[in-house]
Amino acid sequence: MKLTFHAEVLALKAIFRVAKSAKEYAENFFIEIEQDGITGWGEAAPSKFYHEDKQTVPLAFEKIDHFLNGDPGFIYSIQEVIDKNLNGNYAARAAVNMALYDWVGKKLNLPVWKYLGINPFEKNLYTSYTISIDSLGRLEEKIENARDFPYLKVKLGTPDDYEIIKRIRHLTDKVIWVDANEGWEREEALEKIKWLESENVAFVEQPLVVADLAGMHWLKAQVKMPLLADESVKTSADIPELSGAFDGINIKLMKCGGITEALAMIRLARACGFKIMLGCFIESSLGIAAAAQLAPLCDYIDLDGHLFLQHDPYAGGAIQNGRIQLSERAGFGVALKS
Ligand code: MG
Repeated sequence: MKLTFHAEVLALKAIFRVAKSAKEYAENFFIEIEQDGITGWGEAAPSKFYHEDKQTVPLAFEKIDHFLNGDPGFIYSIQEVIDKNLNGNYAARAAVNMALYDWVGKKLNLPVWKYLGINPFEKNLYTSYTISIDSLGRLEEKIENARDFPYLKVKLGTPDDYEIIKRIRHLTDKVIWVDANEGWEREEALEKIKWLESENVAFVEQPLVVADLAGMHWLKAQVKMPLLADESVKTSADIPELSGAFDGINIKLMKCGGITEALAMIRLARACGFKIMLGCFIESSLGIAAAAQLAPLCDYIDLDGHLFLQHDPYAGGAIQNGRIQLSERAGFGVALKS
């Protein structure tokens, strides 16, 4: 197996702001794993929040390269060795794990969803469109950009939270998903969520900081609104302790380390009675298509990271006009744009 990679700066169409951070561009890594004349593709979207950046990712790839021996199809064996020998570095791991699945799909001439036995025809799935934090004056334009999308994922955790929702409700009656990105204190969260219950909001993601798990128990006992964990859950090891504090979890390949771990998380989350959201970072259509293979196993799909890029290096992804449409092409079904 031969692993090669390169970094690419992906400029955003506009600043992407959430409660505690803002982004003008993403610096992602694209990898290739080659064997038998077949090349599997993967992407890493490192996030400083999870202690990864353009320095750590290449080092992780170099380390992982030592464990890539034999048949790329033995994904579980390869993953076990990587997991034993590497701490953290989940986005780097995700790129490698992704590339292995893409390779197997191409080798067997199957789309990855078919290889995994996932039925993409059972339900109609649509991704949400994220309304990041911006001046109130720009909301109308943002809602217009979201016209193809049935769900609006609205980022809150600002002094203008009430005003943002009121203005959006003035413009549209679409279902809203709220993501506070740890932006609220306990009492503030209680008051805001009680109000949001009357505003056609389906759920609230990560209202409190990760450290305040006791606060989440306190909050959940007092609201009807479903509460989803995002920053509070990275891998399956984090899931059991969230029982009683949350109603669901947000799974992202870049947080958990790839498709193998995401599948484990889905099984465990179901066993714990959790709803499942499938999310993403700012990623190209490659990372989005990799995650989308698992969309039929999840309840809420938030795979819009590629839509904010000025130039998406990949084409043929899995989202068409907001709808998840998994390709019949081998692997993840994406192609490099010429
Ligand atoms: Mg979130």
